[in-house]
Amino acid sequence: MILLAHFAGNEVCLRQGVFSAKKTDFIFWAEHEMAVELTRKSFTPYVAKKGEEYMNGHQRKHFRKILEALKSELSQEIDRTVHTMQDEATVFADPNDRASQESDMALELRNRDRERKLIKKIDETIARIDADEYGYCDSCGVEIGLKRLEARPTATLCIDCKTLDELRERQVAK
Ligand SMILES: [Zn+2]
Repeated sequence: MILLAHFAGNEVCLRQGVFSAKKTDFIFWAEHEMAVELTRKSFTPYVAKKGEEYMNGHQRKHFRKILEALKSELSQEIDRTVHTMQDEATVFADPNDRASQESDMALELRNRDRERKLIKKIDETIARIDADEYGYCDSCGVEIGLKRLEARPTATLCIDCKTLDELRERQVAK
């Protein structure tokens, strides 16, 4: 199984595919749709027992593990970007080369900025797990649900409130 992580707005999303039955891989998608493949970590989707209490110790541990894996992948990605930028800090004689180098770097910086924000978001989410507040909708208080959380481990709204939120945002944007 392959998990595709991509960034939609402020949420870290994971998409599940069926490429391999044994292992789960993380692939990160940056906003500009360019896939950046990072170190592979495995995790298996949580299988709740019948009547199991929502967000019990095992479940909290499961999501903590996912979030920590995401965080370390992102941190490694930031380190990689820093090194790339240092390596590419050549001064080109051709103004066209300089212009494209500048736009490349601007893009890298934006990516790095987004990655930092996501790490912050992940930290906040881990703090919610520790405070026993994880997995409930910020707006209406219902359980967000294991499936949605596995797809979007940083989600703070249930799917209904999220949909409503997006509708409102679109209204405002008009
Ligand atoms: Zn809600």
